[in-house]
Amino acid sequence: MALTLEEMTAVGAHQKGHFRLSSGLHSGDYLQCAIYLADPVRAGRVGEELAAAIRSAGLAPDLVVSPALGGVIVGHETARALGVPFLFTERQDGVMTLRRGFALAPGQRVVIVEDVVTTGKSTREVVDVIGTAGAEVVGLASMVNRSGDPNPFAPVPYRALLEVVFPTWRPEECPLCAEGMPVVKPGSRPVA
Ligand code: ZN
Repeated sequence: MALTLEEMTAVGAHQKGHFRLSSGLHSGDYLQCAIYLADPVRAGRVGEELAAAIRSAGLAPDLVVSPALGGVIVGHETARALGVPFLFTERQDGVMTLRRGFALAPGQRVVIVEDVVTTGKSTREVVDVIGTAGAEVVGLASMVNRSGDPNPFAPVPYRALLEVVFPTWRPEECPLCAEGMPVVKPGSRPVA
């Protein structure tokens, strides 16, 4: 695929170290798509590549839907490249819903675009929002697939520009803790 981990590393969107993730797990890798997408030229290229992957999968969506905030930049750029409208979902009181004022028409064909798919759980909430509106999710696409599964949404088609799996550990099993390496929250200075 056209996006490589080396490219993400080169711009600081992938970092090596010893990180405490928001889940509480530890990892030697940290990936933040927003850092890569901070350059609008790079974001535009990601959108073009995702649009090409969507077209080559035989999908011709009526619109793109992404979850805020993480999916908005990449979804917007993909919709621009496909020449279709872009809508987004957001969490209101913990419930995934279409942004106020947005509407889907029954039968509309939707591709969901994400920055990163990790477990696919939040993406499935978006699938449910679209289904509830009577529209159809014809495919999904993301910049990065970290799930370890080539398609966690099968049988619905799914494409990613980069597949990568980083090991994570519980603190008591973490080899980096065992080495005595200070652990940091991603984006912060060492805390230990
Ligand atoms: Zn650790």
